[in-house]
Amino acid sequence: MSKKSLIIAAVLFLIIDCVLMTVKLSQKKPKPIHKEKPHYKYSIYFTSDDGPLVGSKDLNQLVLDYEFPLTLFLVGRPLSQDKTLKEYYQEYRKNRYLLLENHSFSHANFHYKHYYKDSDGVVKDFIKNRDLLELNSSLTRLPGRNVWYLNNNDYKGESNNSLTAAAKLYKEYQFKTFGWDYEIRVNSKRKIILSALKHYKRIKTLLKEGKTYKKGSIVILMHDQLFHNKENLKTLGELVLLFQDDDECKLKFLNRY
Ligand SMILES: [Zn+2]
Repeated sequence: MSKKSLIIAAVLFLIIDCVLMTVKLSQKKPKPIHKEKPHYKYSIYFTSDDGPLVGSKDLNQLVLDYEFPLTLFLVGRPLSQDKTLKEYYQEYRKNRYLLLENHSFSHANFHYKHYYKDSDGVVKDFIKNRDLLELNSSLTRLPGRNVWYLNNNDYKGESNNSLTAAAKLYKEYQFKTFGWDYEIRVNSKRKIILSALKHYKRIKTLLKEGKTYKKGSIVILMHDQLFHNKENLKTLGELVLLFQDDDECKLKFLNRY
């Protein structure tokens, strides 16, 4: 072989190697885009309620894969009766992409009207949950009610009774109560109804039009059960990537609201 053909062969080999490497890299799991985003306009807060439950294991893995902050509002009663849920909870505690917050011990036993008639009982229920889960937290979400109570001049309620309970949580323990601006809904088979792109566009529209509790911020509600579905995980992963790739948006823990 001449010197010239040797050089051509070497160059060809290099090109093929580069192409193969590029293909290999692009087949890898999507890596989060950790941009600095110095000029971001919007803060996005993903939250999930009612865990630990079936789905919590998948939730845990999703945030590890995509490395995004997720705030959880936890309910103690199911966990106090189930060894597997206790294990899921221990995994939550080790996961640095999760912020653990309080959603009451009993979840009002799903009798909301009755529950909120007794605001002292509501406060006790939240304290019981805080102590059981050893929560080092000051954020709450009321079961079954979209109520905001960030301080004595900054609140919005669905009904007088639930608002009174939120006011008491703040006055007695400085617990801030968070509602939500947008919910990722599921159908009767627990499948997320819309595509990731549709959710992304709707969320951006709410932000642009200032139709959220606080302008420039959006709190998104999900539930732990919806993570127990492969298609839902794919949709949520895509949604997170859309926001991570958007210079206008930053994903944050809710204690930075
Ligand atoms: Zn709930």
